[in-house]
Amino acid sequence: MSKLDSGVWETELKRCERLYKGFSDAVPFIKAVYSSADDYFRENPIQPLAVFDAEKAEQQTRSKESICLNPSLEAKEVVGLLKALSNAIVKANPKLKGTAKELNRKGDLFLENSSQEVSKTEVIELRDSLIKEATLEKDLATFLFSFLLSSFYRQQLNSISEVIRTDLWEGGNCPLCGEKPHYGMLTPEDGAKQLQCWLCGTEWMHTRIKCPFCDNEDHEKLGYFTVEDSELCRVNHCQSCCQYYKVFDARKFHADGEIVLAIHNLATLVYDLAARNEGFTPGSGLEWVNEQEVSDKQD
Ligand SMILES: [Zn+2]
Ligand SMILES: [Zn+2]
Repeated sequence: MSKLDSGVWETELKRCERLYKGFSDAVPFIKAVYSSADDYFRENPIQPLAVFDAEKAEQQTRSKESICLNPSLEAKEVVGLLKALSNAIVKANPKLKGTAKELNRKGDLFLENSSQEVSKTEVIELRDSLIKEATLEKDLATFLFSFLLSSFYRQQLNSISEVIRTDLWEGGNCPLCGEKPHYGMLTPEDGAKQLQCWLCGTEWMHTRIKCPFCDNEDHEKLGYFTVEDSELCRVNHCQSCCQYYKVFDARKFHADGEIVLAIHNLATLVYDLAARNEGFTPGSGLEWVNEQEVSDKQD
């Protein structure tokens, strides 16, 4: 998937408003976040990663090892984008003024205490500390930080993602960065299952009857459910590891051109809640649901 230009995500937002009932309310907020990132990167362009050993990468892929390419990120850029997003969320929802102020303050502290370059792990630790200190609700933290990280990753890794041998890859995690997927799609051409990395955007084909998290292939322990009879989104789950991911049936989108699954994901968070209520946890580790929303039904 290429770096998103605004036309692509705006088209997808419109399509998702049509496809998913109740999504319209969230659209102005998402729009504000996406366009603030566009503005930010226009002024602070990110260079693609220059050094990459394609031969070594192919060997790793052949030997079933993810390349696990995790570029370091400039702390200044991370905080710069975080502040831009923080300003955008207040404009979209003035009630978040206090949240944004605190987010900016914690961002400055992070910058002060970090070295010039930070890793994905450090950014995720920042997210988790913001949740722990109740600066951000879990769902908002997941949205802002997965968007932030994937914006940097996609710009740095996009050119590599397009050339790696994903056709040699049978694993459940991302062949390029090693992250576990949160969603995928049934392709418009033939309904084959294609997973997509939420972080770097790499796409790869995956056996339909197989759990990407524990490699379980026992069809009796694999299943999916839909919500309100809509066949657009399926929650694929595994009884063996009790984890889930979402699969969008792109045969039903009537889309030509690029499909931005990240937006379909945002449009279907009610499915994540349903999965949690059924006792499944996200294999990706991305928590889109606040604890208080999960019904405490104990079987
Ligand atoms: Zn990836
Ligand atoms: Zn499993």
